[in-house]
Amino acid sequence: KAPQHRKGSYFDVPEALLNELNNLESLLTVSGKTLQTITDHFVTELEKGLTKQGGNIPMIPGWVLDFPTGKESGDYLAIDLGGTNLRVVLVKLGGNHDFDTTQSKYALPETMRTAKKEELWDFIAECLKKFVDEEFPEGVESPLPLGFTFSYPASQNSINEGVLQRWTKGFDIPGVEGHDVVPQLQESIEKFKVPIEVVALINDTTGTLVASMYTDPEAKMGLIFGTGCNGAYYDVVSDIPKLEGKLSADVAQDSPMAINCEYGAFDNEHLVLPRTKYDLQIDAESPRPGQQSFEKMISGYYLGEVLRLILIDLASNFKLIFKNQDLTKLSKPFILDTSFPSKIEEDPFENLSDVQELFESVLSITTTSGERKLIRRLAELIGERSARLSVCGIAAICKKRGYKTAHCAADGSVYNKYPGFKERAAKALRDIFEWESKEDPIIIVPAEDGSGAGAAIIAALTQKRLKEGKS
Ligand code: BGC
Ligand code: MG
Repeated sequence: KAPQHRKGSYFDVPEALLNELNNLESLLTVSGKTLQTITDHFVTELEKGLTKQGGNIPMIPGWVLDFPTGKESGDYLAIDLGGTNLRVVLVKLGGNHDFDTTQSKYALPETMRTAKKEELWDFIAECLKKFVDEEFPEGVESPLPLGFTFSYPASQNSINEGVLQRWTKGFDIPGVEGHDVVPQLQESIEKFKVPIEVVALINDTTGTLVASMYTDPEAKMGLIFGTGCNGAYYDVVSDIPKLEGKLSADVAQDSPMAINCEYGAFDNEHLVLPRTKYDLQIDAESPRPGQQSFEKMISGYYLGEVLRLILIDLASNFKLIFKNQDLTKLSKPFILDTSFPSKIEEDPFENLSDVQELFESVLSITTTSGERKLIRRLAELIGERSARLSVCGIAAICKKRGYKTAHCAADGSVYNKYPGFKERAAKALRDIFEWESKEDPIIIVPAEDGSGAGAAIIAALTQKRLKEGKS
């Protein structure tokens, strides 16, 4: 008997396969109760990360010691090194909660994830050169200040440095982990004689937080649900024990401090997350096993891979699907990017012709009608699990900071493009908090452009502090 929430009829799905689907449904479904347990543990882990001895979650102080006022103004360059693109943005901050951007995107060569570090930094410097030559054909008088959005965990003792703790999202470039990335980039910038000075290094979540606060005073956190996942919020210096001895005398104890949580690393010790054997396999086969446990269950880089591993299991081990089909393509790790499960879910349940077409074109597999229903249901389960687990970080930050109401500003491909993510995430928050009011007091809202405007605003805040003689 099919559970109520299954759409469509499953009469043509063979019984053995239905049984397996039932199993998968219970493995991948996260109850409201479990979400609450996870959230409570999450709160203690956020706290632990702020102590001197630290915990699983890095909780990296971002050295943004001011709230944006919306009055910041001036022209800034920003770059965002993401998983697939390098984005270069010229930001004109208007000074009245407004800004304009001009941007170019440069596709990262396929091989960049595992290139040599010089190739990465030179690639960025060359893109910057192209951009500056186009935007400032008459040259510039003094070096352009640049905010560098670097979406990986980087320790900072000041705003213009970032020592990469470890690569995430499948990146594996030697010689960068354990090093400050700012001088590495600046060296290539000088090599290509580009008139730019890197003045701030920021995480994408911190940028999202600051850009969103610039336009929306209710914004309380910046979140990325994309290739990776993470969140940033403002804490208070006096509540961050590990800052002791690291602050200069002019920083007041009640000063705000942006924290880049890096909560993709939540539960690396495996206490609360309901991990399946597929999650364990993804972790074991990743370049950094044991790291980013939370992220590996929910972020875009891994969603297609979870689906692929389940399908391989059902086909090769259980011999329940894809009989007499060539599985060569399906056997290739990471062949299914997030757009794949996302397109499957977009296909209305009626005939699943898009699913059929996708499997033919991407995997050279001809599917039966029963298989397509199974595949569609699996995509739903994976997407729903991702959305539900994703909000535990939000709920934990709200609990830690005592926020009863909040706008939680979110960005990233999964949030923006994955079908049903927004609705499922909102529902999961309701499951955690069990609100009685008709309107949700804590809501997830689309973020402002964090890696452009956010980086620029932070660069502006930094320059203002320097002018005022603050550290
Ligand atoms: C990185 C974070 C980043 C997140 C979203 C994670 O893999 O560790 O620094 O904020 O992805 O891009
Ligand atoms: Mg990004």
